[in-house]
Amino acid sequence: MGAVRIAIVGGSFGGLTAAYELCRHLSPERAEITLVAKDDEFRFVPSFPWVAMGRRRLEQISFPLAGPLVAKKVRFARATATHIDTGAKVVSTGADEHPYDFLVVATGHRSANEAVPGLGPFDGPGHSPMSAPEAEELARAIQRLLAEPGPVVVGAAPGASCIGPVYEVAFELDHLLRRRGLRHQVPMTFLTPEPYLGHMGMGGAGTIRQLLEGALEERDIGYRTSVAITRITDEAVETADAAPTPSVCSIVVPPLAGVEAVAASEGLTNPKGFVPVDDHYRHLHADGVYAVGVAVALPPVGETPVPVNFPKTGHMTEQMARLAAADLAARLGGRGTPTAELSARCILDMGDRAAYLAVDPVRPPRNRIPTVSEGRRWLLAKMAFERAYLGFARRGQLVPTAFGW
Ligand SMILES: Cc1cc2nc3c(=O)[nH]c(=O)nc-3n(C[C@H](O)[C@H](O)[C@H](O)COP(=O)(O)OP(=O)(O)OC[C@H]3O[C@@H](n4cnc5c(N)ncnc54)[C@H](O)[C@@H]3O)c2cc1C
Repeated sequence: MGAVRIAIVGGSFGGLTAAYELCRHLSPERAEITLVAKDDEFRFVPSFPWVAMGRRRLEQISFPLAGPLVAKKVRFARATATHIDTGAKVVSTGADEHPYDFLVVATGHRSANEAVPGLGPFDGPGHSPMSAPEAEELARAIQRLLAEPGPVVVGAAPGASCIGPVYEVAFELDHLLRRRGLRHQVPMTFLTPEPYLGHMGMGGAGTIRQLLEGALEERDIGYRTSVAITRITDEAVETADAAPTPSVCSIVVPPLAGVEAVAASEGLTNPKGFVPVDDHYRHLHADGVYAVGVAVALPPVGETPVPVNFPKTGHMTEQMARLAAADLAARLGGRGTPTAELSARCILDMGDRAAYLAVDPVRPPRNRIPTVSEGRRWLLAKMAFERAYLGFARRGQLVPTAFGW
């Protein structure tokens, strides 16, 4: 029997973890693996808020994908997938076609900026840390704010799912402004669709709500919950519940959708462009297709007055990719694999310190009472994790234990 052809689309946490894990499970004689990614570099996305604050440059949190992949005999195609034909089992890019027996979709998100007029930065006056170009643009906006201080709104639009970084941006900006002696000139407001602080799309966790309430209050950051942002202009953020909040720098995270090429491929996604999967991260209908990470469709934990969607963190993405790779390799051997509920550990930067949060499983009810801890040591751990992850990943390895995120 010839080698099985595996195509992976996406070169971030989901795609790279899937590639490394598949290489661990399957020899090059057994599997011919091709990774298609539109960027030629891996970027450590959780550090985008640090790029925005001027604490990191992109090159400090990136490495070229080709080196470690080629060393593992994974073919690397730097290209944008434009279509996936799940019937013919082909991934098309503008230039090439990649036939597959198995496919792993790890294409992450598209910012659905059409959801709220004014979401930006490239569609409107708002700012966002959700991608590398957006984080760099936000860094420039923050430099302008330091030169000409004024009121700021940090928040999330209705339907957002990536809310942890919104808290990070608020705390980090507060910290930066204090260090520059400018905080008294910048009224800050935190606007969230969450029904209470720390809900984060997962129904809250332990005492994170109390921790975040106290932390925003002690830093004089005003906040409102269950807020539906309806429009962002150059001077203000408009909401359904109150008069516009003045803001010269509005950092508002959008709701997410699946990337265009995946969303437009017939039979692959739900209406939002996310891929429906079972417990093994196999597509519910399309043969041989897996999906991991932000590309996956995961339902919200429940109804909230303003919609908030389920989070998909880096740590969760890594677990999905490991489970999918193990399942794919086991299927080739005619075996099945057990699956596991997703847990999450994350470290939320609060400027001068950080909060550590561990939930198991992510979706309540939970067997374990979540761990919530705060201190400077967690900030040091977050920085150490970034260095460790990049160091391991650029050498073709993954961090042995998830101690950070
Ligand atoms: C600002 C921010 C901060 C975060 N902080 C944390 C944190 O502290 N801890 C944590 O656990 N998680 C954090 N997350 C979440 C974490 O970054 C994501 O869970 C993770 O990046 C998801 O990985 P992914 O591989 O699914 O998708 P992504 O990281 O979005 O990567 C998608 C990949 O697909 C490629 N791609 C997309 N479309 C195509 C196409 N058509 N053709 C080819 N390639 C394509 C892209 O180039 C990219 O390589 C944060 C997210 C953001 C945005």
